Amino acid sequence: MSERYADIIVDITHEKLDRTFQYRIPPELEGQIQEGTRVKIPFGGGNRLIEGYVIGLDSRKKYTEGKIKSIAAVAEDGITVETHLIALAAWMRKTYGSTMIQALKTVVPVREKRKTRSRKQVCLNLDREQTESCLEEFRRKKYRARIRLLEALSEQPELSWEYVTKELKVPADTLSGLEERKIIRVESYTVYRNPLRERDEEGAEQAEAVLTGEQASVCAGILSEWKEGPGRPCLIQGVTGSGKTLVYMELISRVLEEGRQAIVLIPEIALTWQNVRRFCSRFGDRVTVLNSRMSPGERYDQFERVRKGRVQIVIGPRSALFAPFQKLGLIIIDEEHESSYRSEVTPRYHAREAAVERGRLEDAHVVMGSATPSVDACYRCRSGEYALFRLVRRYGGAELPEVYPVDMREELRKGNRTVLSEALQEALRLRLKAGEQSMLFLNRRGYAGFISCRSCGYVVKCPHCDVSLTYHSNGRLICHYCGFEREPVARCPECGSPYIGGFRAGTQQVEQVVKKMFPRARTLRMDADTTRGKDGYEKILKAFAAGEADVLIGTQMIVKGHDFPGVTLVGVIAADVSLFASDYRAAERTYQLLVQASGRAGRGRRAGEALIQTYHPEHYSIRAALTQDYDSFYEEEIACRELMGYPPAASLLAVHGSCDQEEKLKNAMEYIRRYLIRVRRKSTVQLVGPAPENVAKVQDYYRAVIYLKDGDEQELIRMRDLLERYIEINRGFDSVYIQFDLNA
Ligand code: ADP
Ligand code: ZN
Ligand code: ZN
Repeated sequence: MSERYADIIVDITHEKLDRTFQYRIPPELEGQIQEGTRVKIPFGGGNRLIEGYVIGLDSRKKYTEGKIKSIAAVAEDGITVETHLIALAAWMRKTYGSTMIQALKTVVPVREKRKTRSRKQVCLNLDREQTESCLEEFRRKKYRARIRLLEALSEQPELSWEYVTKELKVPADTLSGLEERKIIRVESYTVYRNPLRERDEEGAEQAEAVLTGEQASVCAGILSEWKEGPGRPCLIQGVTGSGKTLVYMELISRVLEEGRQAIVLIPEIALTWQNVRRFCSRFGDRVTVLNSRMSPGERYDQFERVRKGRVQIVIGPRSALFAPFQKLGLIIIDEEHESSYRSEVTPRYHAREAAVERGRLEDAHVVMGSATPSVDACYRCRSGEYALFRLVRRYGGAELPEVYPVDMREELRKGNRTVLSEALQEALRLRLKAGEQSMLFLNRRGYAGFISCRSCGYVVKCPHCDVSLTYHSNGRLICHYCGFEREPVARCPECGSPYIGGFRAGTQQVEQVVKKMFPRARTLRMDADTTRGKDGYEKILKAFAAGEADVLIGTQMIVKGHDFPGVTLVGVIAADVSLFASDYRAAERTYQLLVQASGRAGRGRRAGEALIQTYHPEHYSIRAALTQDYDSFYEEEIACRELMGYPPAASLLAVHGSCDQEEKLKNAMEYIRRYLIRVRRKSTVQLVGPAPENVAKVQDYYRAVIYLKDGDEQELIRMRDLLERYIEINRGFDSVYIQFDLNA
């Protein structure tokens, strides 16, 4: 047998991850050593025995003979949480394609370079009434600095010392005076501050909530899945408001009782924090919350609390998956279908897949939930890989809204060229008259300038890939999967109408139209422009919840999370925009958005109504969304994926290239294509492209992509690994940046 070697890391901190040492695996330890194993090694000149972790295995020696030492032994307490996390990193490296160091840096938190960190906070000690009377006093006495401070504090009860002294220009001795009078207190917190200790009134009822019959039976079903070991990953498909969160909390309680811990993943969007509060009020100090705005150091601090067993539940976005619990029992993935669960940086892992792998490594359960599950997850339920549970009733008997389609081709025929159909205008008018609120949703996600006919709905598509063609800067229409090109069209090839072109309305235009038609309506707009500032979202949502506007107009941001009991109408301006985005998940995303959007109506006592404006009322995504019929949507969708060879029916590997020189990128991608053809072992592996990417140029970097399709994922992974090595040793790729995406 040939000799084998292990790369070992001695100090598992973020900044030392690059420093590995190679050791020989002695024959007697062969078979006991894997990625993640903790071992003892002779170190340094004196061969002192120290411990380290194996992060990679190799059959090649990196140094000349004589220099290399052997591993002494496997450490007694050989398996730690680090062992599992390293093994998870190794899995990520292999599955998604990256270096081991990149993968390790994803799972191991950054330890902050410890500067003396004295962060002081100025906190308000008074309730609202006391604050008011205090303010009155200061105003009478014209204490300007104190007025500034109290006004700011009544907006936000905790402010940083820097902000108070530098921005508000409140002198330090004024502050100590106020502190003596117990109007404020100055806290110097450094670490371990629960980021969610704030103003928490809601959710106190959660502790006593009794599960409904339906909820209890889902709970029982999942527990029986867990009877013998961790069981399969479980998917709860539950309509919005059916009580998924309550079921999660029940399951978490069970796991905590066994002395194990839980991770709750939520999408990376501020609006789900309503839900987070409920966890905090039920589990109190046992919970810690991570958010994506935390500095790496703050995240590290939270992970330290986790490691030391100070908390039992971590809630957070994607990266909370790597919380270093010693005895992880359960991973929950809420809103499993959300696209923010896929990482945008290498390794481009999907949190659901990585969670299932971490669960496997640590014998932890995995439970996910959604009203509109991803086609991927549903596919796995159908195959029996995941177990499926359903919640079909809204809690308290609230009705799902009535959803109606509006055929926009008819509007054009009637001579209405505005973005609001007559039906939607009428519905808005009624709501305004009744003093009820409406939401207008403009779907811009995946918007890429597809070309469609407003008279008959025809969309110009790629004849090979079944995705829509998009306008390119050179005036031609291009497919971003295969590079197919054609000249632009002046008249509809289907019906001859000249009303063919891109869809261009934005939220601003919609707002203008509403204002013009209903001059007395109070409108609020929520999009990337209006939410830019800190707490931008929250402010708009709060204002709308407080009834300060009649109509909220926005992009997909308005679809999620928040409950507005006063909303009885949801209007979807243009459902088709995402339906014909130029990627294969367009129909899935449209169905999800439409169901989630219409679910916003009628959350309160009054029944709700949703109007969906579309040029394709006959499309299965739209038809299924009208009746919230997930199964019929899924059947149609999976049939398309099977026909076209898209995931999850087959595997799809994308090779993304970017470079600041167009010619160089073109050459590199051509070399990649030829190389892939050379190493292809099966003629079934389909190669598509190279084609310019959807966004073909970003900040002066040109971008192109090659797709590989096959039923055999391992074959694609094998080809990718070969390609990685080819790129590594080839000078021609020096300034070309290559990234891989598997089934993204
Ligand atoms: P989902 O997560 O499925 O959208 P939630 O868990 O948010 O649903 O439940 C919707 C609302 O119904 C919440 O306000 C929740 O407190 C309430 N609710 C659900 N189930 C119960 C129950 N068994 N007892 C009391 N309130 C419940
Ligand atoms: Zn037409
Ligand atoms: Zn194509």
